[in-house]
Order: sequence, then structure tokens, then C-alpha cells
Amino acid sequence: MKIIAYSTFLCILLTSCQDSEHQTRRQNLKGEYIYRKKNEIFFTPSPPLSKPPLHYPWQRSLITKNFFRCRGNDLNPIVVKKRDGREPIYFRDCPGGERHGLPLHDGEEFVYPCLIDLLNYIQEKSGHKVYITTGHRCPEHNSYCDHSPSNWGSKHMLGAEVDFYVVGMERDPENVISLVQQFYTETPPYQGDKAFEEFSRFHRQGLNVSTPPWHNKEIFIKLYRKDEGRDFDNQHPYPYIGIQVRYDRDQKKQVVFEQGQTQNFLRN
Ligand SMILES: [Zn+2]
Repeated sequence: MKIIAYSTFLCILLTSCQDSEHQTRRQNLKGEYIYRKKNEIFFTPSPPLSKPPLHYPWQRSLITKNFFRCRGNDLNPIVVKKRDGREPIYFRDCPGGERHGLPLHDGEEFVYPCLIDLLNYIQEKSGHKVYITTGHRCPEHNSYCDHSPSNWGSKHMLGAEVDFYVVGMERDPENVISLVQQFYTETPPYQGDKAFEEFSRFHRQGLNVSTPPWHNKEIFIKLYRKDEGRDFDNQHPYPYIGIQVRYDRDQKKQVVFEQGQTQNFLRN
């Protein structure tokens, strides 16, 4: 009991001592204004150094063929296309790329490697993420996205076409296209291919883009402005780039659409 009373007394004594010390200090404080001349500088800061931006792990991740899986979803509503005097056509979406595979080549899932290499090059050079809006489309999802006759032979069904934009460069697709062209000047084994040309006026007739497309031996590039090419997979407000493969450098032959190939994938 004595010990408790003694320690309580000590606490009160210490607290009152601290209070009086604070009071004394506050009373003795003196204020003084700091006067500086306009533009007076005491030291010159060193110029800022540019540092490469830090990337989050997902920004560093390499694009693989898995990024090209079909974006269908059977929860999407059925689309009805009305026709004058005839029965309407009903379009149902596919169950999605988790429920069926990519196109098969020699028994393995396949996307043309030049598309994968090219998109990784753009990510590396720009430091921005490539967002693929459409990679592979199974025939069901292809019809669902865009049921116009011009889309019936889409190379999306062969793993030979990709639509994308670059996050952070959405309003600057021309610079992304410059990177695509640069890829063919400095990256083996693509380096040394013949330079890109604008698609001839004759072949441009009937195309769904206002900007003349470009092509070299291997690929064909289309730039869709923000009011062009708005199919179901491209319902975003940005311009986007579509790249088709024209030539298979391994098989040494043109890549052409064949109806039979479009069904060549595994279903779960
Ligand atoms: Zn599908």
C-alpha cells in the first residue's frame, strides 16, 4: 500500500515539474521574421536525372498465345438479325476460350509467332501494356461479333489476326504503327523483310477503314479510327490496330482463309 502511495506521489511531482518547465520555455520564446530578397537563392539544385519508369510485374509479363484465347461468353444475349420477308437469323455467342482451344497445328495450340513477337516488341519498346481486344475467334464468336459478309473469312478464326491498342498510347496509334514497322528493321529473324508499302488505291475499295492500310510480305496493318470497325469485341472509345498475317515464313506459303481450318480446335 505504501509503495503505491509513494509512486503516485512521484508521478504527480514529475508531471507538475514538466508543466512548469514548458510554461517557462513558452514565456521566454522570441519571434523573429525571416527576410529574403526576391529571387534570392542559397543553392542551385542539380538538374533532374531521367530514370526509366518502374514497371509492375504485370507490365513486364510477356504476351503468350494464351492472351489470344477467344473472348466469347454464352451469357451474352442472343442477337437477332431481322430480314425483309424472311425468317430472322439468331446469333448465339460461344461458351468462351476457356471452354474451347486455340487453332491446332500439328496437334498443338497455335497462334502465328510473328504476332506474339511483334506485340512483345511493342511492349518492350514503348514501356506500355498492349491490350488485345481480339485474338482467336471461333466461328461462333466470329459470327456473333460481326455478322456482315465481309467478316465471314476473318483470319481471327485461324489465329492469324489480332486487334489491339496500347494502354497509355490510345490516342497515338500512328506511333504504335511506326514501332510495328521498326520491328521489321531491327529484329531477327524478321529483319530484312521488304519495306512496308501503302495498300494500292485499287485494293482499298470496299475496305472498312479510311486510313490506307500498310503491308509487307508477312503482315497487313489496318488502323481503325474511333468510329470505325466497332464490332462486338471492339466496343471501346479508342482507335485500334488490326494486324493480319499474309505469309507463313515457316511453311513458305501465303496464309489464306479456308473454311475447313476454322473448326480445327479442341472443345471441352
Ligand atoms: Zn469461341
